[in-house]
Amino acid sequence: MMSKKFTILGSGSSLGVPRIDGNFGKCNPRDKKNYRTRCCAHLQFNEISILIDTSPDLRFQLLRNNIKDVNCVLYTHAHADQTHGINDLRAFYIKYRKRLNIYADNSTKKHLMSSFGYCFKNKPGYPAILKMNILKKKIIFNSKKGNLLIEPIMTQHGHIKAASYLINKKIFYGSDVSKIYNKDFKRIHKLDYFIIDCLRYEYHPSHYNLDEVLNLIKVIRPKKTILTNLHSSVDYSKLKKILPKNVTPAYDGIKILFN
Ligand SMILES: [Zn+2]
Repeated sequence: MMSKKFTILGSGSSLGVPRIDGNFGKCNPRDKKNYRTRCCAHLQFNEISILIDTSPDLRFQLLRNNIKDVNCVLYTHAHADQTHGINDLRAFYIKYRKRLNIYADNSTKKHLMSSFGYCFKNKPGYPAILKMNILKKKIIFNSKKGNLLIEPIMTQHGHIKAASYLINKKIFYGSDVSKIYNKDFKRIHKLDYFIIDCLRYEYHPSHYNLDEVLNLIKVIRPKKTILTNLHSSVDYSKLKKILPKNVTPAYDGIKILFN
């Protein structure tokens, strides 16, 4: 087993594919790559296991990917499709007898503390399961075999800001983005992997669409690009056919092995 691995646990937009009522939109139900849970990701760096977001599908996602340990959670933003699996983190409190560290920016912190206060404050019979940390410019994890550097890059996501994450300056993960600010381009011009929100073909105020992403790639020039947060109007193989060679749609469970 490789010891450095990035996994896209969920590649679907807010309602997933199919939706709860069985609606597949324009996706072919016979293609397994069209079955999409909500956006969430996992980073394994030697012995360190990091989750990005806690989607409503979190329990299913960890079971399916055989992820049995989580050391901390980084949040991108407070929307329901990235946070509503938070309660399932209780399993790790029970396992380690210790609060799990989570990282969030100020506005995400506020939302999480008010919506899920019971996760952060002790109540009789229900100990707090999480410890809130404010996102810093750089988060460094020391593993036995080298260091991991994670840098949040705040990006526009419609009316709010969402954190995208730059991992060892080589992998960019931005699942909910409508704009990367020009000032940040120089930080992401030598990427091995650019994992980016590409909701659908048509314009959307809170997410990049396909044309916008293809233009962005011409500027940033990453070695490889993976499109995520895919809406039910986007069929995997139909999209793949029209993409440049080094660009691919994500599917649930797609993995990147890196050094
Ligand atoms: Zn969102």
